[in-house]
Amino acid sequence: MEKSSRRFTSDNRHAPLTLIKGARIFTPDDAGRGDILLAGGVIALIEPEIEIPRGIPIRLVDGRDFIASPGLIDLHVHIAGGGGEGGPATRTPEIRLTGIIEAGVTTVVGLLGTDDISRTPDGLLAKSLGLEQDGLNSYILSGSYAFPPVTTITGALKKDLMLIPHVLGVGELAVSDHRSSEPTFEDLAKTAAEARVGGMLGNKAGIVNLHMGEGRKGFDPIFRLIKETDIPVTQFLPTHVNRKADLFRQAVEFIQLGGTVDMTIFNPDDPANFSKLINAMDELLGRETSLRQVTFSSDANGSMPKFDENGAFLGMGVGCINVLKRAVQRLIIEHGLPPETILPCVTSNPARVLKLNDRTGSLKPGLAGDVTLFDNDWNVQQVYCRGKLMVDQGRSVVSEAISIEN
Ligand code: ZN
Repeated sequence: MEKSSRRFTSDNRHAPLTLIKGARIFTPDDAGRGDILLAGGVIALIEPEIEIPRGIPIRLVDGRDFIASPGLIDLHVHIAGGGGEGGPATRTPEIRLTGIIEAGVTTVVGLLGTDDISRTPDGLLAKSLGLEQDGLNSYILSGSYAFPPVTTITGALKKDLMLIPHVLGVGELAVSDHRSSEPTFEDLAKTAAEARVGGMLGNKAGIVNLHMGEGRKGFDPIFRLIKETDIPVTQFLPTHVNRKADLFRQAVEFIQLGGTVDMTIFNPDDPANFSKLINAMDELLGRETSLRQVTFSSDANGSMPKFDENGAFLGMGVGCINVLKRAVQRLIIEHGLPPETILPCVTSNPARVLKLNDRTGSLKPGLAGDVTLFDNDWNVQQVYCRGKLMVDQGRSVVSEAISIEN
């Protein structure tokens, strides 16, 4: 590599080719050091050494101090806002593109939660389309906490799944929670069946994202679904499964039945949260339960009620998308987990669950040019989405369609 090429070369960031030289590559498997060529929005080539193409404008990146990972996927984001459990003043704000990409995330899945009155699936889809217009990969789920009927765009879940490209599944359907609509076993079975068939018709995952509450029943209704219906365990993605110990125990059982679970990453900079996360990881790895069956998500912009030590309600916090990169960073650096063990939880696993693995989630020629470059301390340095530079030196370099003026 020529000495004159600079580490950050934002001046030619609109070049049609980007060549990242000499980065430590996790596909998310450990692929050693090598070069990555992005062209036409996709990963064109990954080789130990790629010659610099001549006669075409190219953005050269000295990757020797960088670690390359697939762009992160966050499959549980309240992109259009959420909350409202403490009244209209506790409605949480919409997410902004800058926050997403600076968190190293290149794909989000938006959904609705408790509030399906002032938040609508139409509004959710519009928000998702906006993020996509700004250059992100963005999808949504139909539905909300309450069902039946499932809140949809077209009037039917099956129709949403078949006819709207951005709809990947249904959720988050609330189960075992005082905020749920107390769905019966039949309600759950029929909705899951519709998601499965709608998914087939639309060539989608048709995933059923289940918000697991703190209720007494825990996973019981889900275990019954697997036992008594013909719907495969892979159709379901229970989330928030790490919110309490007995729920997590059932989640491990669910994994052993072949299912995948989603862990909500509660702020890992809170020591109590981080030690819980470590314990959960150690338990999964200790049981030789494959982390292939685990995804991490942020629940960003959803409400996070806060309580004091006596359990009294203090107020509403808001989930933040930064927790994903922060969890990855701390689990690798402070807990010593190998990157290839933890990165799949935020890249290839969610891609597989969402049936997006032929588009993104791995560093493989032919897939989208979604790449996050970390420095050696696992801070996000550069982010490429569909081959386009979105973040440089940790900061967004994209102008959003709207900007907030002071
Ligand atoms: Zn939830």
